[in-house]
Amino acid sequence: MATAEMDAIVAGAGIAGLAAAIELQDAGCDVLVVDPADRPGGVLRTDHHKGYVYESGPNTTIVKAPMRAFLEKRGLDKDLLRASPASKRRFLYRDGEMVEAPASLLGLARTPLVTFGGKMRALSEPFRRKGKDGPETVSEFVSRRLGPEVATGMVGPFLTGVYAGDEHQLGAASVFPELVDRERRYGSILLGGLAGAFGRRKAKGLPGSHSTQKGFGPFARRIAELLYEPPALGSRVSWIARDGPRWHVDLTSPSGDMSISAARVIVATPAFAAADVLRGIDGEMALALEGIHYAPIVAAPMGVEVGSTRVPIEGFGFLAPREANLHLLGCLFMSQLFPGRAPAGHELLHCMLGGVRWPEAVHLPDADLHAHLAEDLERTLGLRDVPEPLAWARWPRAIPQPDRDHADRIAWIQGRLDDCPGLALAGAYVAGVSVADSLASGLSAAERALAGVPFA
Ligand SMILES: Cc1cc2nc3c(=O)[nH]c(=O)nc-3n(C[C@H](O)[C@H](O)[C@H](O)COP(=O)(O)OP(=O)(O)OC[C@H]3O[C@@H](n4cnc5c(N)ncnc54)[C@H](O)[C@@H]3O)c2cc1C
Repeated sequence: MATAEMDAIVAGAGIAGLAAAIELQDAGCDVLVVDPADRPGGVLRTDHHKGYVYESGPNTTIVKAPMRAFLEKRGLDKDLLRASPASKRRFLYRDGEMVEAPASLLGLARTPLVTFGGKMRALSEPFRRKGKDGPETVSEFVSRRLGPEVATGMVGPFLTGVYAGDEHQLGAASVFPELVDRERRYGSILLGGLAGAFGRRKAKGLPGSHSTQKGFGPFARRIAELLYEPPALGSRVSWIARDGPRWHVDLTSPSGDMSISAARVIVATPAFAAADVLRGIDGEMALALEGIHYAPIVAAPMGVEVGSTRVPIEGFGFLAPREANLHLLGCLFMSQLFPGRAPAGHELLHCMLGGVRWPEAVHLPDADLHAHLAEDLERTLGLRDVPEPLAWARWPRAIPQPDRDHADRIAWIQGRLDDCPGLALAGAYVAGVSVADSLASGLSAAERALAGVPFA
């Protein structure tokens, strides 16, 4: 078996792994990124068909401060594309119609999504006692602070959009770390918000939702091109073991297996894959990683003719709360957000099915999915003769679902890694599932790997 020595190996060429690798490279390390896929970017995938530019994975992200700084440092911020102002209007499908979700406090006061009593309950939040019963689900936390109506009527549907998940399962400390922290520090999330607004200035992200000029797939390739050593695609890290003060990394690829001795290793794969490669180092840590569940998603980008829907295609799109009893989780109006993503006279919709509500969806044949989608698009948008989507993108394990114990689980894992200098984890399960959070987890992992074994 061929052997080699490197400063650093990164398993996974998703956004987390790419960011980690570039950070290590900038610190002076020679880095090899390894990924079994045929292109870098992980779930970031953009395709073209007859004038449509569509995503199979993420469509937009909020550019938080670490992502902004990372991109600005490399001049990549110029590739960002802010969603059009229309994106401020977001809808929920409720009781057979589209209801605009509130975007401000005034909007909250006026919204029909919460009754007058529910609004009064939410406004009494500063007078509620602090919770003291240990980790809570989002539903428990929001119901306790803002009332059950806000939890089911507004927060639940939002989590459908971001996590394809369920507010009764997702953990508050992982999903809303800032809100949980505000309660801890100020006794109130509303008062804590005011204190934050007048408090010390923090590094800022960019306002609004973003994609990139050519979509997320080409963006990932742009980032990968910054690496001096191109990612080793079609290869996977199969095992990691201690090698004195270094790490012994086994790689498997169609052209033959290889072993590398590296001072630093970043595992930037999904949690279940990290469990497999780390089992030899720490079996208990592997079990903890394996316990992180993922929600499945079927993404169905679809082109439709302008004017073919009864409901106007305006704004960001809509989400379907559980109570709507649809197979559809929601639908984004991509050509409204980013003009140029559909040919003239057409709109690009991005429909999402599955999630924890309907996990079987990823296993259904196209024809069955189409029948369900057609029924739901006719009900929600009044779209008749629903066309075949441009693609059926099935993601059996799409989005990690941090449960109420997730924050403690991650803290425990990070504690175990203190005994593994130079080894770090990154990815969507570590500190937030969005593109921006995943990228930031890569930066933190690089920092950790460098702190464990400083580059001489
Ligand atoms: C369908 C879908 C829609 C989404 N929508 C949005 C959205 O609109 N906005 C948003 O902000 N976020 C969204 N997300 C979430 C976000 O895109 C992801 O959480 C984020 O991109 C994950 O990046 P990552 O690098 O952690 O993981 P990934 O992109 O999953 O990359 C991990 C990489 O590890 C590789 N790998 C696996 N095993 C090994 C191994 N043994 N050795 C080496 N490499 C290995 C994989 O091949 C993969 O390329 C969406 C996710 C999905 C799936």
